[in-house]
Amino acid sequence: MKKLKIGWAGLGNMGTPMAFNILNSGYELTVFNRSKDKEQELIAAGARSAKTLQDLASHCDVVFTMLSDDVAVKSVYNETDGLLSGGSEPGKLFIDMSTVAPETSRYLSALCRTKQVSFLDAPVSGSVQPAREGKLIILVGGEAQDFEKAKPVLDVLGKLALYLGSEGAGSSAKLAINYLLGINIQALAETVLFAEQNGISKENMLTIINEGACGNGIIKLKTPSVLADSFPSAFALKYIVKDLKLAKEAGLNSPLSAPLLNTFEAAAADGLGEEDLMAVIKYLRRS
Ligand code: NAP
Repeated sequence: MKKLKIGWAGLGNMGTPMAFNILNSGYELTVFNRSKDKEQELIAAGARSAKTLQDLASHCDVVFTMLSDDVAVKSVYNETDGLLSGGSEPGKLFIDMSTVAPETSRYLSALCRTKQVSFLDAPVSGSVQPAREGKLIILVGGEAQDFEKAKPVLDVLGKLALYLGSEGAGSSAKLAINYLLGINIQALAETVLFAEQNGISKENMLTIINEGACGNGIIKLKTPSVLADSFPSAFALKYIVKDLKLAKEAGLNSPLSAPLLNTFEAAAADGLGEEDLMAVIKYLRRS
């Protein structure tokens, strides 16, 4: 059976390993990244490079986007020289996996509809390691028939692709899970620092957490970086600030939400935005 031609725009921390999984599973892959140097390792592995976003859209049946934020996504989909600049090509499917506002997903879906092409919002839960391993959890909004069409490719990227309802539903679910992520990260940082203030080493405190019922996947994942006090970016701290702001705009107004956003915003303002979000512990230690 002829396989779909896949396009990929956005080769950052997440996009690169995800695009590799598409290529390695046998799909014909065309890539586009604003900074062309990031395309090189995929081209060396057999991917084609699109000269323009219009070229990417016209060459491929399904185009994925994995970009930093709402501004980037809207600019890449633009009708002047972006993905949607080539006129209507019924049957094409665009899938945005970036974390953006549900409102942005609905806007893009409506824009795609005017071009008679399909759109899914499909942001992911899971960071760089699950992206490498093809074990992301993919949260999908849009038309059910488009989800069914995309499912074989989504299964290459994730261990679970969950259809959640109409356009924007994937983005809504993503903002909710990232709220829980932020709470976990800040709670871990505060707990370790509180224990240290009372003479309990971070090594011992992390053992207590991870051996007991309070340990969980994200805490286990972040334990080595807390122990090493080193936070190279897997999920950049600036992105949890973005996501907590988007959650607030989408109506999140619960007791923990405002202090959580304040803390991460302050950590970003303190110069930690490009480090992993666990670097919030550095901000809390010195504040
Ligand atoms: P990243 O490493 O910062 O990569 C961002 C990508 O967006 C790069 O390819 C960048 O191109 C591109 N980009 C930014 N602005 C652009 C613009 N105006 N026009 C065209 N391209 C633009 O980000 P990431 O960590 O891969 O995250 C991508 C998305 O996934 C974000 O929405 C993030 O919130 C979400 N997410 C991340 C993680 C994680 O653990 N990292 C987990 C789940 C979800 P250049 O290379 O040219 O800068």
